[in-house]
Amino acid sequence: QQMAEARGHTLRVALVGNPNCGKTSLFNVASGSKEHVGNYAGVTVDAKEGTFNFVRPSTGERYTIVLVDLPGTYSLSAYSAEERYVRSQLIEQTPDVVVNVVDASNLERNLYLTTQLIDMNLRMVVALNMYDEVRANADLLDHHQLSILLGTPMVPTVSRSGEGIAELFEQVIDVYEYKSDVARHIHVNHGAELERSIDRIKEVIQKNGQIRHKYSTRYLAIKLLEGDAEYNAFLDTLKNHDELVSARYEEQQRIHRELSVGAEEALIDAKYGFIHGALQEAGYMQGEEKDTYQVTKVLDKIITNKFIGFPLFFLILYVMFEVTFTLG
Ligand code: GDP
Ligand code: MG
Repeated sequence: QQMAEARGHTLRVALVGNPNCGKTSLFNVASGSKEHVGNYAGVTVDAKEGTFNFVRPSTGERYTIVLVDLPGTYSLSAYSAEERYVRSQLIEQTPDVVVNVVDASNLERNLYLTTQLIDMNLRMVVALNMYDEVRANADLLDHHQLSILLGTPMVPTVSRSGEGIAELFEQVIDVYEYKSDVARHIHVNHGAELERSIDRIKEVIQKNGQIRHKYSTRYLAIKLLEGDAEYNAFLDTLKNHDELVSARYEEQQRIHRELSVGAEEALIDAKYGFIHGALQEAGYMQGEEKDTYQVTKVLDKIITNKFIGFPLFFLILYVMFEVTFTLG
């Protein structure tokens, strides 16, 4: 709270989530299109920043919120420009609070990114967006129970209509001011073998006293065990580099022996297992799934038919050719 006061109640909030979960809609409805929106120059991937005032309904206190709309990612590994960009924003710019936007009608897949954010030990609130669809599908979910299990406040939102947005930012401020009764640091449990490896690597990393200020050492340990390319380079800058490399090698070999899969795959599986367990404990059940892909299914049947498929494909190519060269 003192920090917020010193900075005139200004806080930086970053929106992180999968593509198409409604981040930009949330950004627009929260910041209002009339507010200043600037695109960052010099980045290859798209990010927007907007500032708006938020008056806390319960107390009337005013806050200035700088909202950053980050590109959509399914994960925080180092495989794509988006992933690397989001990751560097989270570590270098350190937003005060992260809003993890989740497509609540597709929870299992969306929560994967959430478990990675938990690894990073960031202050976070989850927006269970598209909650209108959850209601329409009659999915069952005790979201309060889920938020306790994940140590992260969760607020149902519909960013198309603005429903739940004020409540979301109240939670953001609660987390920022350490007033949330749900927010706590949890560890995603990856199972005994992986946790043993993580602990060992973490201990070796912790011999470098200075890096704890910037990184969660648990997060770094997980990334090294995964074999993350970007952190390999970082590893070279550490003084006990050799010791780390051999500890990691031994643990990767051990995981391979014990679990018969590579460490990266084992960590992914473990995270999905954790999500599955948490959802079960929160009474999650997908309701009557109204098939939103009916049209797609009909089209697929025709287009991928073994007799019609190829002739149709060449017909479309021919039409495109004619349109381009004859009509064009
Ligand atoms: P982004 O890729 O995360 O930035 O997602 P967008 O904000 O571009 O939204 C993707 C699509 O989902 C758009 O067609 C939105 O209109 C739609 N959408 C966003 N929020 C909601 C919501 O709460 N409910 C529903 N039903 N649709 C939404
Ligand atoms: Mg977007």
